[in-house]
Amino acid sequence: MPTLNIHPAIAELEKQIIAYRRHFHQHPELGFQEVETAKYILEQVKELDLDIRHPVAKTGIVATMRNGDGPCPASGGGCIALRADMDALPIQETGDVDYKSVNDGVMHACGHDGHIAILLGTIQALDRLRDQWRGTVKFIFQPAEEGEGGARYMVAEGALNNPDAAAIFGLHVWNYQDFGTIGVKAGPVLAAADRFEIAVKGQGGHGAMPQGTVDAVYVAAQLVVSLQSIVSRNLDPLQSGVVSIGQIQGGHSFNIIADEVALKGTARAYREEDRQIIKSRLQGICDGTAATYGASIELDYQDGYPPTLNDPAMTEVALRAARKVAGDGVGEPYLSMGGEDMAYFLREVPGCFIFLGSAKPEHQAAKVPHHCSHFDFDERVLAVGASVFIEIVRELLPTGA
Ligand SMILES: [Zn+2]
Ligand SMILES: [Zn+2]
Repeated sequence: MPTLNIHPAIAELEKQIIAYRRHFHQHPELGFQEVETAKYILEQVKELDLDIRHPVAKTGIVATMRNGDGPCPASGGGCIALRADMDALPIQETGDVDYKSVNDGVMHACGHDGHIAILLGTIQALDRLRDQWRGTVKFIFQPAEEGEGGARYMVAEGALNNPDAAAIFGLHVWNYQDFGTIGVKAGPVLAAADRFEIAVKGQGGHGAMPQGTVDAVYVAAQLVVSLQSIVSRNLDPLQSGVVSIGQIQGGHSFNIIADEVALKGTARAYREEDRQIIKSRLQGICDGTAATYGASIELDYQDGYPPTLNDPAMTEVALRAARKVAGDGVGEPYLSMGGEDMAYFLREVPGCFIFLGSAKPEHQAAKVPHHCSHFDFDERVLAVGASVFIEIVRELLPTGA
């Protein structure tokens, strides 16, 4: 494992940061319900000289720390925004830890408890380190990353304005990478995550007498097979995309030809152009299949999170910061077709989303995946993440500016 270089101010705060994480882990709240979480965050920073906006997007917090009027030299002015998501998942925790969730059926199974703790530690360290940076840093605690896109509402309610953010950084603890590694990469790092529903309407009848019917189950089966041609035949094979049907419902009994079938699925792509290809081919296949079999097929395609795109220049900043902390442990992130609402912030201002290897040595990468009921991570990653944030601020807001 590479030697880690934890910032001394973070090393001093590490016990406190771990205690924060355990508090949030024990008291998880679902998206847009992070009321106690926000209260606790505000309580921890109440002694500090911060401008606080709360609530933003129902439960979100925007805290601004000013330290002189130095601009952000790398981006030509403005402040730096650091972001954490606060929400938990509707999962009953099964793991055996002393900080187990006390809220039935709710669990921090993605590591957002860690993200809040990292950002809280970063705020406190930056307050102590006012002689090491100059300018303005904005701390964004956003609700509802898991599906509802809290980031979109934060943007709409002006989280990035007054003062305007010139750059934004976020990070994710990442059990798909071993502890001690940090994944940083320019360009797309998480996918556009869309969902769609298809309603197939035919004409029911007797299972023994298909004449005169339009079998909705048969038509749906054709669709399931044809849709796989989008990725294999329409997308550039060097690019990534996936179309998955996750749910089919329809039919009445073994001897009745179904008149209706509903299909639900998800479509993922790294590039906006591939997303558009998937969307238009889905529509084309639905229309063509309807015409071929005499059924009526309606497609309801709902755009989810956009692709998460890291800006090349801000990725360089993140790389320099990450290397100061983890040296040779910095490399390509473990990529997936998952989605992340950090994408909405990155659409507005250049920035970088960073992956912190957090698998415990005894588990190894990916053995305890995110969103599983016994999810846990190596808590040493909290000091790593906060150190990376500190180094990013020192890179972009140096005292000499
Ligand atoms: Zn998640
Ligand atoms: Zn997450």
